[in-house]
Amino acid sequence: MDDLLTRDEYGAIARELSLPVNAFIHGRFTPAHGGGTFETVNPATGKVLAEVASCDAEDVDRAVVKAREAFERGAWSKMHPSERKHVLIQLVKLLKRNRYELAVMESLESGKTIRDCALIDLPETLNCLEWHAEATDKIYGQVSPSGDDALGMIVREPLGVVACVIPWNFPIMLMAWKIGPALAAGNSVIVKPAEQTNTTALRVAELALEAGIPEGVLSVVTGPGETTGKAIGLHPGIRMVSFTGSTEVGRLFLEYAAKSNLKRIVLECGGKNPCLVLDDAENLDSVAAHVTQSVLWNMGQNCSSNSRLIVHRKIKDALVEKVMDRFREWRIGDPLDPQNHLGAMTTPEQYEKVLGYIETGKKEGAELLVGGGAIENGGGYFIAPTIFDGVVPEMTIARDEIFGPVLSVIAVGDAAEAVEIANDTAYGLQASVFTSNVKRAHALARALQAGTVTVNCYGEGDITTPFGGYKLSGFGGRDNSLLAHDQYTETKTIWIDLSDDPIGEQID
Ligand code: NAD
Repeated sequence: MDDLLTRDEYGAIARELSLPVNAFIHGRFTPAHGGGTFETVNPATGKVLAEVASCDAEDVDRAVVKAREAFERGAWSKMHPSERKHVLIQLVKLLKRNRYELAVMESLESGKTIRDCALIDLPETLNCLEWHAEATDKIYGQVSPSGDDALGMIVREPLGVVACVIPWNFPIMLMAWKIGPALAAGNSVIVKPAEQTNTTALRVAELALEAGIPEGVLSVVTGPGETTGKAIGLHPGIRMVSFTGSTEVGRLFLEYAAKSNLKRIVLECGGKNPCLVLDDAENLDSVAAHVTQSVLWNMGQNCSSNSRLIVHRKIKDALVEKVMDRFREWRIGDPLDPQNHLGAMTTPEQYEKVLGYIETGKKEGAELLVGGGAIENGGGYFIAPTIFDGVVPEMTIARDEIFGPVLSVIAVGDAAEAVEIANDTAYGLQASVFTSNVKRAHALARALQAGTVTVNCYGEGDITTPFGGYKLSGFGGRDNSLLAHDQYTETKTIWIDLSDDPIGEQID
């Protein structure tokens, strides 16, 4: 809380901002070679915010050539790990110095509240980059247990040019999740932000150059997914793509890889996450606070949102009552006002999609308890926090990822039924369990098909724990923790024959 400014101070920063709008290639801002641009919009007002460079395959190719040259030059890839660490930590310092400006940029483009940007997204971005920077000179290779007549060394090497394709829901934080380990490993990195949210990525790249990351090592290409993203997916010079976004587009990246150079693909995709609350759950006030945070954080535009509350019928009404109270407490409105907990939906498409799901919920017979529609507020894309009771697993709102502030309450009779419903989904990203029985908590954590299971809290773990999904929620690797470094490196075996006996040999 101590890092929040006032609404007026944020307004002043917003007025003075000069938003970067060109791609960042080879250490400088560059318009798209064809001169094309596209508009981005402030979701809180519906007004145009910026005209951003629309890069195509030729721009992507230029970024790859420059990234490859930088990699071959070795100014970063062969820099001593301890020095790379210092440069990355210098980047963290510069980001920290510019955190107010970055938080405002992030809020203006995404509709997120400044409160979240300042208190969650920016601190987590800094923490993530610092953590991976610190790991740079602390990761060891291995020696194989191959006997005395050979030395088998297993070393990790950077891949070369890697790309990070980012969604619009956590633009700067998810960029950090990917560039942190990718840069620490010595790769050259090309970032493709979502077309709605570009400016923080561009500013990070600019600050990275100032911190001492050599030109060409960190580039940002802006543009539409079907053009810029596709060109990245198909480029033969890119060795790996780390993608976060929808499962649908994630599948495309696997196709692009198959059609081009079999580049490595790591996917973090959607979720339809369950929160199981059993009848022995303690402290329903605390449970209600976690449920609310999980569903409303970032207006529900969160892949790990617990959008299905699967609760024992004995305590359902008592818990839902408390959740409704909390929903009413979350203030919605102007994202730059630090008093607000909920901002605008990031895109008009997402706004329409969520409103459509709310209508479907009503039509399919779910009982609307609170919310249930748009909130008029100066042309922005605001949606009232919504709870549906009486949801059954067959309903659309219980099956599809809504990606909005909508909670579906499903009543069950016991833990076995809760697990069955929880796992009856194509996704498997995150799940939460509330129970006071420690044995049951362990059993449920094992039984749930999800990359992260939290017990008696909602969350995603932290930077030290891997994050990613089972089933359609993920593929090929994990973000966060030291495991993240593996996906940005190649494994090499170096085998040295030691079978002769040099000790017994005559030395001339
Ligand atoms: P999206 O899949 O539409 O876009 C993600 C990125 O892919 C963007 O940069 C976009 O420009 C690019 N892209 C879009 N179409 C493309 C194409 N045809 N070819 C190549 N690239 C293309 O996703 P979104 O709407 O920005 O984000 C929301 C989704 O992200 C949700 O499904 C959410 O669950 C998921 N998400 C997952 C995680 C996770 O860690 N598992 C985290 C955040 C968001």
